[in-house]
Order: sequence, then C-alpha cells, then structure tokens
Amino acid sequence: MLRDTYGRVATDLRVSLTDRCNLRCTYCMPEEGLQWLGKPELLTDDEIVRLVRLAVTELGVTDVRFTGGEPLLRPGLTGIVERCAALAPRPKLSLTTNGIGLERTAPALKAAGLDRVNVSLDTLRADVFHRLTRRRRHGDVLRGLAAARAAGLEPVKVNSVLMSGFNEDEAPDLLAWAVAEGYELRFIEQMPLDPQHGWQRDGMITAGDILASLRTRFTLTPEGETERGSAPAERWLVDGGPARVGVIASVTRPFCRACDRTRLTADGQVRNCLFAREETDLRAALRSGAPDEEVARLWREAMWGKKAGAGLDDPSFVQPDRPMSAIGG
Ligand code: SAM
Ligand code: SF4
Repeated sequence: MLRDTYGRVATDLRVSLTDRCNLRCTYCMPEEGLQWLGKPELLTDDEIVRLVRLAVTELGVTDVRFTGGEPLLRPGLTGIVERCAALAPRPKLSLTTNGIGLERTAPALKAAGLDRVNVSLDTLRADVFHRLTRRRRHGDVLRGLAAARAAGLEPVKVNSVLMSGFNEDEAPDLLAWAVAEGYELRFIEQMPLDPQHGWQRDGMITAGDILASLRTRFTLTPEGETERGSAPAERWLVDGGPARVGVIASVTRPFCRACDRTRLTADGQVRNCLFAREETDLRAALRSGAPDEEVARLWREAMWGKKAGAGLDDPSFVQPDRPMSAIGG
C-alpha cells in the first residue's frame, strides 16, 4: 500500500503521458510552450505499463487516470490503455484531455478498455476559447465531447476553470449547456500552477463565487452526505436532479486530509502532491535494472513523506517549479 505518516492511502494514480500540448491555456502553459522533454527522457510505453502494473498489483492502486500535457498526443496511448486494461486486478481507467482529436480516437479508446473521460472546456464562446487557450480549436473540443458520449465513455465529465477577465460570467451558461448535453460539469478553482507564477489569491474566482453565480439561475442542493471522502468535488443536484454539478475548491476548501492521489510525471518522477517540491526518480531505478521490489520500495518511501497539506493559503507557500502541464493535472 502507498501509505503516508498521516494515515492516508493512495489508490488513485495520475500518469502524465507527455508534457506537450496543442493548446496554451493561460493558467497552465506559457504562450511559447516549454522546453519539451526529449524522447529519451520520456518513459517508454513499456516502462509506463510496468509502473502501472506494479502500482496495481503491489501497491494497492485501483484507479489510473492518464493525463499530461495532452495525452491524446501520445502515439502509443491506445496500446497503453489496452495493456493496462489487461492487468489483474483490472484498474478503472480514465483520461483527462482537452478533447482535440477525441472525435477520431474515442471509439478505439473505448474498445481498448478506457472507462471514462474528463474533457476540459472553459467556455462556450469561440472567441473566449481563443483568448484563453491561444488556439482556434473550440469546434474540435465540442466534437470530441460528442464523440466520447457516442462511444459510451460515460459519464462524460467536463472540467472548467473560471478566470476573471475571460469567462467568469459563464458558469450558468456552461451548466445549462452541460445539462442539456448530458455531460457532468465540474468547476475547478484556479490553482497556483501557472507558468508565469502570476496566480493571486485575491484575483481568483472562488467556489463561493461560482455557487453564487449558479444560484442566480438554478436551485442547488448538496448531494449525499456533507463529508466528501476523497472525492475532490462537492457535488450539487441541479434543480432537484438527476443532473449534478461539481465544484472543486482546491484553494478555498482544500481536501488534503482525504487525498488519495499519487502522481507519475512523463519523465518518471513520482510526486506525492501536485504542490510537492520534491520528486522521486523511478525512471533512473528502472533504467539501472532495479527489480520490482526496489522500485516499489522507492514509490512507498516517496508517498510516506507526503505533507499534511499543500498550504496554499499559508503566506510561506512556494509554488512548485514545474507548471501544471509538466506535472500532469
Ligand atoms: N490537457 C489535458 C486537459 O486540459 O484536460 C490534461 C492536462 S490538464 C493539466 C488537466 C486539468 O488541469 C485541466 O482540466 C485543466 O483545466 C486543469 N488545470 C491546468 N492548470 C490549472 C491551474 N493552474 N489551476 C486549476 N486547474 C488547472
Ligand atoms: Fe494543454 Fe490541458 Fe494545460 Fe490547456 S490545461 S495547456 S489543454 S495541458
């Protein structure tokens, strides 16, 4: 098991498959891109499958989510999904994607064993999409979403980040659209993982702002118990249900106490937290011929040292060097 000193157990593995992306969302990646990892630095498909196998068979991981960068840019994605779906015990497999290319790949991913997708879309307005992502690909994302739904990659969830000066007024429109389309919408508070290190607590749109905005048009009632468990979203029934909306208040109501995540970067570093300042190099271990037990020991040790919380609200908080796209969101 991947335990830490606070008694938490990590069962949810996020695997970044690439640091590259075809969008440049302002809160995630600089306009000019980053110094991309070279091919030799990236884990190979075999190395990824070996680490996922180890996580699932030796370390108690039950859920695996592929992310990035943009995971659909990884040429071997379908094969990686297929091989992970063949593991015993079989992990639940999901993908977080910007949706570009999903129109083409959704059926093959479903056939390979992918269970669900989260597609990131922050706006219904093509011009705002262009300003936020610096690319004119709004239509591709909408078509990718529809293809995921048609392929049965359900529930199709949509992740939205609201940014002041861009889309802060769009929460009710996004929810009306998601309900009509049968997608489950989740708003995520913007976190200090932007490449410019320009995030400011005062400038961000909070969960409280989002809920107030949604309530101008919808009746929201909390779903289930108030205790969130490890699920980061607080979910609300929309106008009595069955449609729901989630709000992930990572900054204003952090859920660190219930965190069950462990993360693997595209270059094979384990991070025990999005905001960790230290990483553990599993790639070096793999490439020096370490046996499974040794790699598992390193992974357990990396998780054991997980801090109680990320401390975003603490004045001493220091943003990690890697931006979101290079960690894997
Ligand atoms: N490219 C894929 C995508 O956009 O879904 C996967 C990687 S992206 C880093 C994963 C998620 O992180 C997206 O939903 C994105 O909106 C979110 N994200 C990126 N930077 C963020 C930030 N600074 N604060 C909050 N969420 C962020
Ligand atoms: Fe790319 Fe996703 Fe980051 Fe946007 S949020 S730049 S789509 S990795």
